[in-house]
Amino acid sequence: MFIVLLGPPGAGKGTQAQRLAAATHLLHISTGDMFRENVKNATELGKLANTYMTKGELVPDEVTIRMLLERIARPDAEAGAMFDGFPRNVVQAAALDDALGGRGAKIDRALYIFVPDDELISRLGGRWICRNCGTLYHERNDPPAKAGVCDKCGGELYQREDDRPEVVATRLQKQKPPAELIEHYREAGVLREIDGARSLDDVTASLLEAIR
Ligand code: AMP
Repeated sequence: MFIVLLGPPGAGKGTQAQRLAAATHLLHISTGDMFRENVKNATELGKLANTYMTKGELVPDEVTIRMLLERIARPDAEAGAMFDGFPRNVVQAAALDDALGGRGAKIDRALYIFVPDDELISRLGGRWICRNCGTLYHERNDPPAKAGVCDKCGGELYQREDDRPEVVATRLQKQKPPAELIEHYREAGVLREIDGARSLDDVTASLLEAIR
């Protein structure tokens, strides 16, 4: 099964993807995580991506699509995957459709998590990530047992540089899923719309229901 998670920054895609991956054992592929890993390791790709990420802009399609196609060509993605943060536009969606189509597969579900803007802004401000294992927390909605420390591995929690208020404004302006992208999946008959302004557990339950 191949699933895409759609939604604006702060809708909860990353947190829900981690929960769905634990519940379904589907491979979780996050292009944002892949870029952050490259930034951390100071690769050429990371240096290039970071010039866009720090401004809250999308990394160019050519670069992002190449990275994603390489990732899904690996054997662990043969049977299925859940994409979090990809595609961000119809060009990326078409590239993914082509790649999957070439091996007799397709996107089975597109889960669109929608949340009002004012809620997104407050969520992005309180977000913390484990430097070691990538687990996501929120100081209000999903706090760790001990501030600054990961419940799962004891790693140090940090705040994303692009969660600063001045960058958040750009991300919200430039990175909401475009209407054509939602339409792309609606036309394919695989779109499910999920109200993301509810408790984490309620949203997870709706998402699991939608992929059952
Ligand atoms: P995210 O963790 O999904 O919020 O992604 C963090 C940053 O990585 C974004 O602000 C973009 O700069 C970049 N990024 C992640 N996924 C994509 C994508 N599919 N296309 C272009 N840029 C992306």
